[in-house]
Amino acid sequence: ELWIAGRPVATAEKLVSRNPSRSSEIVGTHSKATAELAHAAVEDAYAFFSEWSAYSAADRSIVLFRAAEILRTRRFELDAWLVMEAGKSWAEAEADTGEAIDFCEYYARQMLRLDHPEALLQMPGEKDVLRYIGLGVGVVIPPWNFPLAILVGTTVAALVTGNTVVLKPSSETPIIAAKFVEVLFEAGLPARALNLCVGSGSEVGDTLVSHPKTRFISFTGSREVGLHINELAAKPQPGLRWIRRVVAEMGGKDAILVDEEADLNAAVEGVALSAFGFQGQKCSACSRLIVLNTIHDRFVKRLVEAAGAWLLGPAENPAFTMGAVADETARQKIGSYIAIGKKEGELLFASSVPEMEGYWVPLTIFGGIRPEHRLAQEEIFGPLLAVMRATDFDQAIQWANSTRYALTGGLFSRSPDNIELARSEFRVGNLYINRTITGAMVSRQPFGGAAMSGVGTKAGGPDYLRHFMDPRVVTENTLRRGFAPKTGAEEHQPKK
Ligand code: NAP
Ligand code: MG
Repeated sequence: ELWIAGRPVATAEKLVSRNPSRSSEIVGTHSKATAELAHAAVEDAYAFFSEWSAYSAADRSIVLFRAAEILRTRRFELDAWLVMEAGKSWAEAEADTGEAIDFCEYYARQMLRLDHPEALLQMPGEKDVLRYIGLGVGVVIPPWNFPLAILVGTTVAALVTGNTVVLKPSSETPIIAAKFVEVLFEAGLPARALNLCVGSGSEVGDTLVSHPKTRFISFTGSREVGLHINELAAKPQPGLRWIRRVVAEMGGKDAILVDEEADLNAAVEGVALSAFGFQGQKCSACSRLIVLNTIHDRFVKRLVEAAGAWLLGPAENPAFTMGAVADETARQKIGSYIAIGKKEGELLFASSVPEMEGYWVPLTIFGGIRPEHRLAQEEIFGPLLAVMRATDFDQAIQWANSTRYALTGGLFSRSPDNIELARSEFRVGNLYINRTITGAMVSRQPFGGAAMSGVGTKAGGPDYLRHFMDPRVVTENTLRRGFAPKTGAEEHQPKK
């Protein structure tokens, strides 16, 4: 069921969610919103905004702390939904649920901190106060690939800052979304503060984004959709009383550099996990591997051997290291890039795929890729790795920076000079040195990209909540009314 204007709403048209590893298995069905329902959701969220934003920061934060508690107790159940609906391995599912819990805890604490901002400079006879206040109605649009963590993080960040929310989850993962909405209501969130508007992006997405009462959009997903939303949100229209704010976290074409000085054992393992974990379906996944010429052949041979040890099969069986991709569209898209790769480069490795139903694609490695190739420029979102041979470290850095994306990047090296060079010249939002480039942790690695990868100030970081608030300053002339500033002494005088 949808949640619109504080009430559950069932519609005739349903969205069917399937298990990627066994496509005939229906994980759940969910009511699908229409454009009219989406419109009604924004209207009611707007009407309820003054009430929800009047809750104290502490009262809003408590909802998040309780939600974290409930998530902890339902952890394994949620893991299971992630395995079944998104095709995550158990380990990846645990990480997803864990991150969701962290987001609740972290943003609740951050909100308490922001409720007492640093004091402004005070002069006698004047009182200056800075406060952060919520913006209004936020439309939250997360992707399917972290169907719990990103959905939870973006939703609770908008809520705890005093906004009312219309959540439009991905059509791939409506069941997990509905589970979390359950959790929030159980945690004490007033039902009118959050609308659950499951529906297709093209049908209800545009309605939500372009509604004149929508104040901001918090989007995470592909560059194409992010740019579309940004454009639509900026369009002036009758009745619009503000410039909508857009926070858009988008794709990546993330590179790992392997230097001559690298520890090759660590590099093989780090590259394989970064490239093929969760079938390469992470915005942070390694999709370009840039190896220095002198060690290229030795390293690639070992990487191919390591890749051969990855077993493909249904995600729910822990014996398998790689599962199926999200849906049939993803399967075909990745297939078309494999065909392109065969023309642009040399196929170094392709795993076999299970002979069973499900959206299977081979784990694939191409060599001989150059910066101008499509395999080096376009986000593919699958277990497909493009290997590039660089003549020296400067060229490697130059190639690493040669896409319009700037999300994550990695370096394996034992040379302090090259590590220093990468620190200053490798332009990405999150750079990882001598480790995997996926799996950012809340408050340890605030996460997000620059350039065409995003416009935000990093999820799970200290600046994130400010996206969803306006700072307001009140200056009061306290002399005008004949008062002297309080010294504190008068408070100790006996009351008359
Ligand atoms: P997507 O196709 O762009 O979809 C993201 C969300 O946008 C979904 O909820 C989708 O709904 C919705 N949507 C589609 N068209 C819309 C429209 N016209 N108006 C409003 N909403 C619309 O991305 P995805 O396939 O779910 O996720 C993969 C992408 O996300 C990759 O590019 C990945 O790199 C990126 N990503 C980035 C980050 C980051 O933090 N930077 C994190 C995770 C993923 P439907 O499902 O109904 O179409
Ligand atoms: Mg599905």
